[in-house]
Amino acid sequence: MNRFTIVRIPSLKDASNRVATTQGAVLRAGGIDLLDHMKEGLQAPSELVELHAIGGDEGMKLRSMDVHGDGRRRLGALVTLAQIAELEELFEGHQALAQAAAHAATPGIRNAATLGGNLLQRPRCWYYRHVDLVCLKKGGDMCLAQTGDHRYHAILGGGPSYIVHPSSLAGPLVALEATIDVRGVDGTVRTIAIEELFVGPTVDPMREHCLAPGEILLSVTLPVPAPGQRSAHAMAKEKQSQDWPLAEASVRLRMDGGKLRDVRVALGHVAPVPWRSKEAEAALEGQAPSAELFARAAQAATGPAKPLPGNAYKVPLCQGVLRQALHEAAQIPLPE
Ligand SMILES: Cc1cc2nc3c(=O)[nH]c(=O)nc-3n(C[C@H](O)[C@H](O)[C@H](O)COP(=O)(O)OP(=O)(O)OC[C@H]3O[C@@H](n4cnc5c(N)ncnc54)[C@H](O)[C@@H]3O)c2cc1C
Ligand code: SF4
Repeated sequence: MNRFTIVRIPSLKDASNRVATTQGAVLRAGGIDLLDHMKEGLQAPSELVELHAIGGDEGMKLRSMDVHGDGRRRLGALVTLAQIAELEELFEGHQALAQAAAHAATPGIRNAATLGGNLLQRPRCWYYRHVDLVCLKKGGDMCLAQTGDHRYHAILGGGPSYIVHPSSLAGPLVALEATIDVRGVDGTVRTIAIEELFVGPTVDPMREHCLAPGEILLSVTLPVPAPGQRSAHAMAKEKQSQDWPLAEASVRLRMDGGKLRDVRVALGHVAPVPWRSKEAEAALEGQAPSAELFARAAQAATGPAKPLPGNAYKVPLCQGVLRQALHEAAQIPLPE
């Protein structure tokens, strides 16, 4: 690992300017993905600008969760995955987010990893993570996974890069219609829908989000849940501990007169961006919930899938986790 300086700057303005104007300066939150990049030789920053050093009201807002006067829930970017995992009982209607956080990574990682860093982490594709390999994502001219070992790669929306987006929190936040606040280097704060944060490989295979150097993700806001809103997250892994999901599904819905309403479905670890399935939503909206309907919606969700030769197993797996999330959100027991 290279030598670097830890820089502790107490104001957002100065921290942001430092990163925008100093060659090699990067923001550090929990440091899990950043330090992995440094250990793997993929990144050699000269300065780590500590987000945890931001003080006063600005720092408090980054670290805190609160409820707006109108009932919207705000989570600061430095809130940890462990803190979010504890919210399942408190966050009625937004359970999917807490469930996803509770199953991500390991307890040790969840204690350090932050909401902002989780959304902005880089992909886990083993070709990208190998210091000696130069694929499209590192400025090369081809995707090595497409013809190589792509067992964990995208089945939806792939090409020209076939990464899967690594964040487990991104899917539930898409399903829950979250927004994010981003502070620009000039100090202006913009609010965007969470889906607008993510950049797919057809737009630019070299990045996964739209933030410029020095821009800071301040917080995530969840809209006021509709009366009776429920949500759920389900995932499948090869092993239950210290592993990445193979497929994840997040669902939000409410029941009205025995029919499903306001259904949102997002799939994780199957596409280069958190994947909203409008096909599944259309199959479910206004219908009476049943195991047969959920099976049809899961089929619809994977209708556009174009698996590579080595990852077709993810199609039924993706259908399975989506059915599981739908059954849980609609409170209908899964058939044996
Ligand atoms: C064994 C293992 C298993 C894992 N399993 C999972 C899993 O199942 N699901 C999952 O989602 N993740 C998983 N992870 C990844 C882990 O959750 C992420 O690495 C972590 O959430 C990143 O958060 P961080 O706060 O440590 O980010 P950092 O490493 O500090 O930052 C990541 C990037 O975001 C930038 N950044 C951070 N915060 C901000 C901000 N507020 N504004 C602007 N830029 C910012 C940094 O500059 C850096 O580029 C796993 C990791 C390991 C090692
Ligand atoms: S999937 Fe993306 S990161 Fe992986 S080899 Fe292909 S271009 Fe590179």
